[in-house]
Amino acid sequence: MTAAAGQAEQLWSRCAGCASLLYRKRLRRNLDVCPECGEHTRLGAPERLRQLVDPGSLCLLPDRLPEADPIDFVDVLPYPHRLSAARVSTGLAEAVLCATATIGGHPAALAVMDFRFLGGSLGCAVGELITRTAERALDDRVPLILVTASGGARMQEGALSLMQMATVSQAIAALREAGLLTVSVLTDPTYGGVAASFATNTDLVLAESGARMGFAGPRVIRQVTGRALPEGFQTADFLLRHGQVDMVVQRRSLRGRLAALLAAAGTGRPARPPVPRQEPAPHHERLAGAAPAADGTQPAVRDAWETVRTARHPGRPTTLDYLDSVFDGFVELHGDRLSGDCPAIVGGVARLAGRHVMVIGHQKGHTTADLVARNFGMASPAGHRKALRLMRLAARLGLPVVTLVDTPGADPGISAEEQGQAAAIAENILTLTVLPTPVLAVITGEGGSGGALALAVADRVLMLQHAVYSVISPEGCAAILWPDRSAAPQAARALRLTAPDLCRLGVVDEIVPEPATAAHDDPAETARRLRAALLANLLPLLDVPPAMLVRLRRQRFRRFGATRTGIRAVAR
Ligand SMILES: [Zn+2]
Repeated sequence: MTAAAGQAEQLWSRCAGCASLLYRKRLRRNLDVCPECGEHTRLGAPERLRQLVDPGSLCLLPDRLPEADPIDFVDVLPYPHRLSAARVSTGLAEAVLCATATIGGHPAALAVMDFRFLGGSLGCAVGELITRTAERALDDRVPLILVTASGGARMQEGALSLMQMATVSQAIAALREAGLLTVSVLTDPTYGGVAASFATNTDLVLAESGARMGFAGPRVIRQVTGRALPEGFQTADFLLRHGQVDMVVQRRSLRGRLAALLAAAGTGRPARPPVPRQEPAPHHERLAGAAPAADGTQPAVRDAWETVRTARHPGRPTTLDYLDSVFDGFVELHGDRLSGDCPAIVGGVARLAGRHVMVIGHQKGHTTADLVARNFGMASPAGHRKALRLMRLAARLGLPVVTLVDTPGADPGISAEEQGQAAAIAENILTLTVLPTPVLAVITGEGGSGGALALAVADRVLMLQHAVYSVISPEGCAAILWPDRSAAPQAARALRLTAPDLCRLGVVDEIVPEPATAAHDDPAETARRLRAALLANLLPLLDVPPAMLVRLRRQRFRRFGATRTGIRAVAR
């Protein structure tokens, strides 16, 4: 490019909506909305904050955290190189900018995501910074406003990025309990783990004009279903039509709308005492002895990709198999009371060594016909809502909850998005963080992304020896970060998705050893071991008062963002 052309480039820009050539200063004066066609261009976090808050009221919160590459992730580039490049190109420390400010004279805490920074991906630092902002809102007793722009979880941080969905959600739950308003403003684009947590489990959800939000992205849904997507799929107007957002707001009206909502929230604020805040538990102390299996042996190391294949073996015991072999007297309960009964989630009351429990799990199958009938264990929003109904019922009845996780992920379909998949997952995650009854989760096969986490925010998380638990499938990760999907075996290794890896990272508390070769070779022995592990972990939880359980569970999920240097030290 010549110097003159470069200068012209800086002065003018072409609208992506109508292709008009626009004078940049004029565009900026119009809040980066095309004056010709109304196209809302994407905003960086600093400009977004400038547009939203009262002049002179902005006070940025600290944005520096210890350097993190918690799983030493390398694809074609080492993760720290990608981070440095993002810092140079955006001038930001991370993909979120946090602040306190006033809007229309009303104080609030704000966390604003920036899509330019690694696609606004949710990693440990982003989760930690948003959580601290929520805690600041709680301390100051002011509303929290989250402006989202994200492609999803940051896969370079593996399952730890998935945990951030729970960490931020429980901070939002604390604000909900304290009677403080939470608002999310969806901007374009908001997808994946961010959509399925704090973008949709706030009190109010506003969508900026032109924003798209969903759990699965349009490209993935097209690939999986082979179907053309409906006109305007996942756009703000689509979301409004399907009951998923409170309102669609033009950028120029956003500040006024927020000011009005903050004013309304300020009038009837209940004078409840603030909820005591959890200090993160020192992570490395918990991790030191975390890796061995229940019987004290060190599980044999097997290649991550081989483990993925074992976890997907069609002969592997399913939730219904375990309900038959590990539990007694299972009575299945059906339906979400809203729209249907999802066959990919089974749940109901059962007995474990004579005690009643609520068991909820993903159901796959052993034959192609079974798998198809059960949608391969991929829950629909109705499935997540059925699980939510059963969790709440368990808490009311004083029953502990046992979840069995075995899913490639949530359903990547058109109707799942229409029915509010992201919000359904988000509500389950938030509810589990505050459920006043013991929750014990077992990853029995595949623990796939947000769909798995929707059943896995628990007091204790167990994992069968050859199960996997990951923020994204190795194939999906390879398709994004490597030249093609054939790099799935490398991606599987880089993601640290095996039970020993996740134990070291503190995501999983205990490994349940499988019989020689794997669970599918000896289902009866697998069931015996699982039953012993369930009892050993459940019985101590039964004596803990519910309020204490919730407090400890929050500490468990709070620590994933805070002490990443500790994780790194132990992971090596
Ligand atoms: Zn235009």
